[in-house]
Amino acid sequence: MTDLKEKIKAGIANEGPVPVARYMAQCLGDPAFGYYQTREPFGREGDFITAPEVSQMFGELLGAACVAAFKHLGEPAAFSLVELGPGRGTLMADLLRAASLRPGFVAAANLHLVETSRRLRKIQKETLAGAPLSPAFHDTVEDMPDGPVILVANEFFDALPIHQFVRTPEGWHERAVGLDAGGELAFGAGTARIPDGDIPEDFRNAPPGTILETQPAANAIAEALGRRMGRAGGAAIIVDYGYLKSATGDTLQALYRHAYDDVLAHPGEADLTAHVNFEALAGAARRGGAASSAVLTQGDFLLRSGLLERAGSLGAGKTHEEQEAIRDAVERLAAPDQMGDLFKVLALASTPVPFPPFDSAS
Ligand code: SAH
Repeated sequence: MTDLKEKIKAGIANEGPVPVARYMAQCLGDPAFGYYQTREPFGREGDFITAPEVSQMFGELLGAACVAAFKHLGEPAAFSLVELGPGRGTLMADLLRAASLRPGFVAAANLHLVETSRRLRKIQKETLAGAPLSPAFHDTVEDMPDGPVILVANEFFDALPIHQFVRTPEGWHERAVGLDAGGELAFGAGTARIPDGDIPEDFRNAPPGTILETQPAANAIAEALGRRMGRAGGAAIIVDYGYLKSATGDTLQALYRHAYDDVLAHPGEADLTAHVNFEALAGAARRGGAASSAVLTQGDFLLRSGLLERAGSLGAGKTHEEQEAIRDAVERLAAPDQMGDLFKVLALASTPVPFPPFDSAS
């Protein structure tokens, strides 16, 4: 049993069931035992491989999109280049290498990384040691200096705590983690009843057992970004796995050593994520004052950004094995049955005209 499991069980025994949002926040962020504080989640040794770790092409093409955003914003003389949740720093290193091809971009940029894990900050600094910009670190978006911003985030919003509500015969309750008769962690309906008015009308009368998720933490950040962009100008490209329209269903999932795991089995040792509701995320950003693009699939985004051309030039003059690896990476990133369809890409900007590749019709 994990130390965090002990701690959570003891807390529940003393104070009663904890809402799913709190359980998720504790598993990921507990200062002593939290997943991002203690584990090496990424890569072959870790629990999952993210797109920038699959291939340098991912960060490079995001870099090209950032350059397009820079032009779209009228090439500001100074701006904050921001990444939320940079992981190992790989995406930003690749992004900067590609964006350096555009004179003026790096010269105008100040690099800001929003990262809560001290352990990952250290790795990000090492990865970026050879980069043309050195990073300033922040715990939250709100801590960053004001001014125009160009922001990227990959698999950041899926790591923020979601709330779950469950419909019982008596009405809606917050879904909670408690203890079963044997003293093991178990899901149940929390005691607090949720007023029907708090549940979107479409789902209010769903059958008992229905689960509904909300993402107030993700939406609050999107709204803050929207406000900031509305005030000072800017653009953002947000990549994550998620869905286009609000719907019911349980998307909370655990990944443990490259396999799906019981969400309650390894608190602090398994990665916990939830699918991002892009409709809600874009709506929150618009409420803040930004314009939002249509949501693209990752496959569409990368192909429109020139993935195949980039793969071709990267493979030129390489060995057969290296070319094979590049082809595999293209498949992995863009094929509909791999990351291509499940992952979505949303652009936000202070001015409504979308920048490439969000502008062309599909
Ligand atoms: N973008 C990276 C890593 C994704 S994992 C990649 O694509 O490989 C999620 C990242 O977000 C980690 O760096 C994690 O430490 C960070 N993170 C999670 N919750 C956070 C929060 N509330 N505030 C800031 N960073 C957070």
